[in-house]
Amino acid sequence: MPHYCTLIPGDGIGPEVAHAAVRAVDATGVDICWKRAELNEAIILESGKTLPQYLLDSLNETRVGLKGPVTTPVAGGFQSVNVALRKALDLFANVRPVRTLPGIKTRFEDVRIDMVIFRENTEDLYSGLEHEIVKDVVTSLKVITRTASERIARYAFNYAKKNGRKKVTAIHKANIMKLADGLFLRCCREVAQQFPDIQYKELIVDNASMQLVMRPETFDILLLPNLYGDIVSDLAAGLVGGLGIVPGANMGETHAVFEAVHGSAPDIAGQGKANPTALMLSSVMLLIHIGETNAAHKLQSSIESVYREGKYLTGDVGGSATTEEFTDAVVRFLKG
Ligand code: ATP
Repeated sequence: MPHYCTLIPGDGIGPEVAHAAVRAVDATGVDICWKRAELNEAIILESGKTLPQYLLDSLNETRVGLKGPVTTPVAGGFQSVNVALRKALDLFANVRPVRTLPGIKTRFEDVRIDMVIFRENTEDLYSGLEHEIVKDVVTSLKVITRTASERIARYAFNYAKKNGRKKVTAIHKANIMKLADGLFLRCCREVAQQFPDIQYKELIVDNASMQLVMRPETFDILLLPNLYGDIVSDLAAGLVGGLGIVPGANMGETHAVFEAVHGSAPDIAGQGKANPTALMLSSVMLLIHIGETNAAHKLQSSIESVYREGKYLTGDVGGSATTEEFTDAVVRFLKG
């Protein structure tokens, strides 16, 4: 029996990196039947719906998705598809492992970075509740609930326990947002008490940002509300070589959608320059999720081998290879 998986190529560099990731996953030999569901700016504008029904139907059938980025218009236009999908399927946990890859030159060459970011994915300032009270006066509501905060905290601590991680750091701004971030923090503390073997720390988000740049190797698991999680994810990606290499997973009770941290990168779309590593590593997480751990390890180590060899890297990480050439190299290691 094959595994069924919804493939959402997205737009911008999405179709290029999705094609590359599918080639790599298929080359592991695992039997996946990809159910392609198109989603891009043109479809959304034409249908007037952020999430077409066929996409939700497909994900409700397969329960697993591999997703490329979809462009979100800035300051106006339609609602973010990524946010809408996370809410529609209640994908409450955004999990982003940030790790040093072999052979990449970063500012932290002598330091091994290995952290996992847990970002709450359904509320906070992403509630989309914005109002213009009177002309030129706008409010934007930050929603924090006990249910969502406990849920993401429990998910992060359970992950830590299962994966032998030592420390969880909750990141907040509860000195200013005493009620909202205060509630988030209270929930983290309560959950932390149920995991006495795991060290629990708290950092204010501004200090956390500085510590991440100065001592990235001291971080293990990071636990954050939605907005700080978004910003800190890109910061952390910068520590290990950029958005081209950091994977992610949106996890819910019933569904899981795997997607890179990066957006649709319109500046390089259609030029064969996109680094597909982030979506390939997201596919490694997908393979683990569906129980194909051997294929996952094979794919992970083939990607690492290409980096170690250093001959077929894309421009964002200092090489000159195209998306296709990098993918060919990964496939060669997989088959070799
Ligand atoms: P969003 O708000 O949708 O997350 P963003 O504003 O964070 O998007 P991205 O689309 O992620 O922006 O791109 C940020 C920068 O990183 C761009 O210069 C882009 O070219 C680069 N970039 C992003 N992803 C990749 C990739 N896979 N390979 C190479 N460069 C990338």
